[in-house]
Amino acid sequence: MNAPLRPSHLGFVAPTGTQDTIKDALFQPMGVDGVYARTGLYEGIVERLAAYISSQREAGTEVLRFPPVMSRRDLERHGYLKSFPNLLGCVCALHGTDAEISAAADRHMQGGDWTSALSPSDLVLSPAACYPVYPIVAARGPLPAGGAIFDVACDCFRHEPSPHLDRLQSFRMREYVCIGAPQDVNAFRERWMVRAHEMADALALPCRVETASDPFFGRIGQVMALSQLHQALKFELVVPLKSVESPTACMSFNAHRDHFGTTWNIEDADGNVAHTGCVAFGMDRLAVALFWTHGLDPAAWPASARSALAL
Ligand code: AMP
Ligand code: ZN
Repeated sequence: MNAPLRPSHLGFVAPTGTQDTIKDALFQPMGVDGVYARTGLYEGIVERLAAYISSQREAGTEVLRFPPVMSRRDLERHGYLKSFPNLLGCVCALHGTDAEISAAADRHMQGGDWTSALSPSDLVLSPAACYPVYPIVAARGPLPAGGAIFDVACDCFRHEPSPHLDRLQSFRMREYVCIGAPQDVNAFRERWMVRAHEMADALALPCRVETASDPFFGRIGQVMALSQLHQALKFELVVPLKSVESPTACMSFNAHRDHFGTTWNIEDADGNVAHTGCVAFGMDRLAVALFWTHGLDPAAWPASARSALAL
C-alpha cells in the first residue's frame, strides 16, 4: 500500500484551477490530442524549473542536449521494440525518384492518400532523453573510476494520445544519468531520491515516492512489469495534477542494471560490464503540477517555491 501524500511543509492547499481553466491559460490547441502550443506564462515556469534543476547538478557532470530525433538503429538495439512498440514514433519520408515523389504529392493534391508512399527514414522520435548517451559513452572506451554522470534533455515523443494534460504525446524530459560500477549507480539513485524529494518540498508540491513499473507492452510485458516491481528497479515521485486521489508520476528513478552496459559493451574502470541508472524529470508534468497546486499567478505562489524558481 502507498504511503499518504506527504504534504509540503507549507501544507497542501486545495487546487485553485480546474483542468479547463489551466488548459486555456497555459496551452493553445494544435489540432491533435496531447500536442500543444505553450503560452509565455507556462514557458516562463518551465525555464525557471530547468534552471532550478541545473542548480542541483553535481560537480563533474557532463552536459549534453539532444535533438528530438535519434538513430532508429540505436533504438532498435536498445530493445525498445520488445518493451514499448506501441509508443514509438518513426520518422517517415518520401523516398525514391523525383517522379515517384511528385506522384505521391500529386495524389494528395487530387484528394488522394499520399502517405501510402511513405517509407521509414533512419530516424525515430526519441521516447526518452537518456537513450542517445549510451552509444556515445561506449565509443569512448572504459569509464573512469567512479563512473560518469551526464545531464541530458530532449523533447520526447510517445504515441499515447489523451485529452488530459498529464499525458502528452510531445513533452520535455530532463535527466541525470549515471554510468559506472553497480555501487556508483546505486549511490547515485539513493542520493537523487532524497534530493528530488527535497526539491518537490521546496516547490511546495505534495508528493510521495513509490515503487513503480513501466507500461511494458502485451502479456509478456505484464510479467516484465511485475519483475521490475519485485526488484524495485523503478521508483516514481508522484504529485497530484489531475486529481488528489490518483497523483501523477512527475519524476522517475530508474536502475537499468547491466542492460545498456551489455547492449553497448560499456566497461567500468575495472573492466566489468557497466551498470546504468537515471533520474528523469518530466518538465511538463512538473510545470502543470505547479500551476494546478498553486494557481495561475506565480506572484502568489508560496515563498519557498518562488525562491527555488528565482521568481
Ligand atoms: P519514464 O521514462 O516513463 O519514467 O518517464 C520519465 C518522466 O517523463 C516521467 O516521470 C514523467 O514525468 C514524464 N512523462 C512520461 N510520459 C509522459 C507523457 N505522456 N506526458 C508527459 N510527461 C511524461
Ligand atoms: Zn533515462
